Amino acid sequence: MKGPLLKVENLVKHYPLGKGMFKKNAKVVRAVQDVSFTVEAGETLCIVGESGCGKSTVARLLMRLTEPTEGRVLLEGTDIASLNTHALRDGRRRMQLVFQDPSSSLNPRLTAGQIITEPVENFERMTRAKREALASDLLRKVGLAQEIMHRLPSELSGGQRQRLGIARALSLNPAIIIADEAVSALDVSVQAQILNLLMDLQEETGIAFVFISHDLGVVEHIGHRVAVMYLGRIVELAKSDVLFAKPLHPYTEALIAAAPLPDPREVRREVPVEGEVPSPVNPPAGCAFHPRCPLAEARCRVEVPALTTLPDGRAVACHVRASSGEAMQPLIDASQSGGNRQADLQPSR
Ligand code: SF4
Repeated sequence: MKGPLLKVENLVKHYPLGKGMFKKNAKVVRAVQDVSFTVEAGETLCIVGESGCGKSTVARLLMRLTEPTEGRVLLEGTDIASLNTHALRDGRRRMQLVFQDPSSSLNPRLTAGQIITEPVENFERMTRAKREALASDLLRKVGLAQEIMHRLPSELSGGQRQRLGIARALSLNPAIIIADEAVSALDVSVQAQILNLLMDLQEETGIAFVFISHDLGVVEHIGHRVAVMYLGRIVELAKSDVLFAKPLHPYTEALIAAAPLPDPREVRREVPVEGEVPSPVNPPAGCAFHPRCPLAEARCRVEVPALTTLPDGRAVACHVRASSGEAMQPLIDASQSGGNRQADLQPSR
């Protein structure tokens, strides 16, 4: 296969609002605006942002669970919009989704073994022996005991249910998994187990992930690259270690500065950002972040900044930072604590 595993080109998703939806000037929710990125085989791209930034809509667009207003998604070079129902089913074998809430995404009437093998049985007839061998293999792969095979989802813990959801997604041998807030509903200790499981599976099988999360700690742990979304747009896209050490976009800086540090003795430099995220129905003109941005200048109020790739490979949508090309100082205040803080910020990947 030439080119990236997944290529997303200029995706736009607008949802018409209310009764006026057929009128010319009807209000629309601008959920996703001109989003482009690629994912290579064996890579984890994280998409991060606050609630309502459009990241879950991107997940739905990738799976073609909703149709884009504009733009396209190419999986292994094929535009998924060009696939008929039959071909789309095959395409979905290659790209699977893991949901946030394992309880609601698993059929409560099926046993764990049936849940795992059900997707495969939609494509092929299997003997009982083959079915049991497949379920047994996938239970082992995701670290679940064999006796779970005959239990219902209600008899499992939250962590076990999420492992089961991952086993089900793996059953069709996908090239990529879209994980939408896949660990958000779990306790911190269970979160770590699931993240480690995903990284082990990646090492073992070369699978790629698009990992969608609002939690920067999780993203830093698992991502090779990170795309930061604000009000439907990607505002920064960079390698994870680069982004967390020296964020470039003022919103990325504020997001990282507001995230808790694992070591309470460490102090992050304050990044002053005021106000709330504006409505996607009526986003501000120009740069959507300008009403909250401490660096905003006249141009920012009228001109939408393009996502610009800089010589070091990172991309940023900011008039000021794209032209200066300068990352901010490290966010950890070196005067506040000892130790190698820069090293402490390095992701564990
Ligand atoms: Fe701030 Fe202007 Fe950059 Fe937007 S384009 S983030 S308003 S400096």
